[in-house]
Amino acid sequence: MAIKNYKFWFVVGSQELYGPEVLRTVEARSREMAEELSKVLPYPLEYKVTAKSNSQISDIVKEANYDDSCAGIITWCHTFSPSKMWINGLANLQKPYCHFATQYNEAIPNEEIDMDFMNLNQAAHGDREHGFIAARMRMPRKVVAGYWKDEKAHKRIADWMKAAVGVAVSKEMKVMRFGDNMREVAVTEGDKVETQLKLGWQVNTWATGDLVKEMNAVTEAEIDALMAEYTASYDIATENTAAIRYQAKEEIAIKKMMDREGCMAFSNTFQDLYGMEQLPGLASQHLMAQGYGYGGEGDWKVAAMTAIMKAMGENGNGASAFMEDYTYHLVEGSEYSLGAHMLEVCPSLAGTKPRIETHHLGIGMNEKDPARLVFEGKEGDAIVASLIDMGGRMRLIVQDIVCVKPIMPMPNLPVARVMWRAMPDLATGVECWITAGGAHHTVLSYDVTASQMRDWAKMMDIEFVHITKDTTPEKLEEELFLKDLAWKLK
Ligand code: MN
Repeated sequence: MAIKNYKFWFVVGSQELYGPEVLRTVEARSREMAEELSKVLPYPLEYKVTAKSNSQISDIVKEANYDDSCAGIITWCHTFSPSKMWINGLANLQKPYCHFATQYNEAIPNEEIDMDFMNLNQAAHGDREHGFIAARMRMPRKVVAGYWKDEKAHKRIADWMKAAVGVAVSKEMKVMRFGDNMREVAVTEGDKVETQLKLGWQVNTWATGDLVKEMNAVTEAEIDALMAEYTASYDIATENTAAIRYQAKEEIAIKKMMDREGCMAFSNTFQDLYGMEQLPGLASQHLMAQGYGYGGEGDWKVAAMTAIMKAMGENGNGASAFMEDYTYHLVEGSEYSLGAHMLEVCPSLAGTKPRIETHHLGIGMNEKDPARLVFEGKEGDAIVASLIDMGGRMRLIVQDIVCVKPIMPMPNLPVARVMWRAMPDLATGVECWITAGGAHHTVLSYDVTASQMRDWAKMMDIEFVHITKDTTPEKLEEELFLKDLAWKLK
C-alpha cells in the first residue's frame, strides 16, 4: 500500500533588525541544519524560510496548509524573533507543529564570544519568546530541546514526525465497511459524524453482495500469482488448497474494492457473510501485512486506528495490529493475557514463521473451513491502544505491556496468539483498563510508543489516558473524573 512521500518544513524565525549579514548567516546555517537533519530523521526536513515579518510567516503557513505532502512544520529561532508577528500565521496553521529549541553551536566559545556572537546566537532568548506565543494561543505543539546534532533530540523529533504522519493519514482515512457492527455490541459503535469532524475519517458501508460480485470476477491467474506470494512468505500446513485459493480470491476482491475507493482500512462481521463460503482469515491477515487496517465485528474505529498506527511505524508499515483480549492465565507469579482473534491476527506480530492452516470455525456462517495464518507473537515491550466514543467526544486509552513468548504451546488452539503482561500487573492493569472503559479490541504495537500516541491525541485534540507501571486505580479514577469535567467545558 502506498504511503505518501511526506516531508516536514523548517521555518526559522528572525527579524530585519540584525542586518543582511547576520540574516545570510542564519539562512546558510538553517539550510545546513535541515540537510544534515534530513540524513538522520525518518522524513526529509526542507528549509523553507528565515521569517522576518508577519506576512512572510502568514504566507508560509498558507503554503504548508495547502501542500498535501507537508506533514508538519518545525520552527526554531536562531536569533530573536518578536512573536506578535507570528500570531496571524500560527492562528491559521492546520499542520502539526514542533518547536525545536536548539542552538547552532554546541559550546560557548571562550575567546570568540562577544556582543556580535551573542546577537547572532541567541536561541536561548529567541525560543522563549517563540514558546510564549504558542502557549498564549493554546496551540497543540511539541517542544523538543537539545543540541541539533544530539541523537536524543533526533529520536524525539523522529518520534514526533511519525506521530504527525499519523495525523496526515488520519485526515485522509477512508474505511470500507462490509456489514454493520456485530448485533448488540456497544463499544464498537460510535458517532461517525463526530469522528469525521474530529479525526477526518470517512467511514462508509458497502454491501457484502458487492464483494461477492467482485470475488466472482477474480481470475485463476490472479489467484495463482497471490498463491505464489503466500508460498514465499508462509509455510503451507494444510492439504486443503481450495480453502487457501478461496482466501486469495477474497483478498484480491477486497483489495480491488478498497484501492478503487482509496480506503486504507476495512471491517466485516461474521454475522454478514452472505454469499461467501468462508470468513476472510488469511485474506485479512495478508492485507494487514501490507499496511491495511482491519477491525472484526464491524469495528471501524479499531480498523482505522490499525491503519494509522501501521503508517506511524517503521518505514510507514510497522509492527502494529488488530488484537483482542481473549483469556487470562491467572496463576500467581505468572499472570498473563492471551490475545488472539477468531482468525485475523496480523503476521507483523509474528515471532515464528506463520503457517497456513485450515480448521473448522463454528461461529458465524462459514460453509467451509477457513484458511488462516497461525503463529506465536514475538517478545518485547509493546502497547495496546483503544479508541472509545464517550458520547460527544473520543477517548484514547493506551496501556504499556510486555509481550512474552507464549508460556505453553497450546497445540489445539487454531489461531495466531500473543501473550503479554499488562502494566502495572495483570489484576491492577485490568482494573485500570475497565475503569477507563477500554474495549476488548485494541491495536497492539511493538513499534509505536505511548509517547507518540500522546502526541497524536494532542494533535487530534482528543482525550489521552495512559496506563503505566505507576498507575493505580485510585489515581486513575481521579484523573478520569477531572478530565471528564475538563472535556465537557472544552
Ligand atoms: Mn473481536
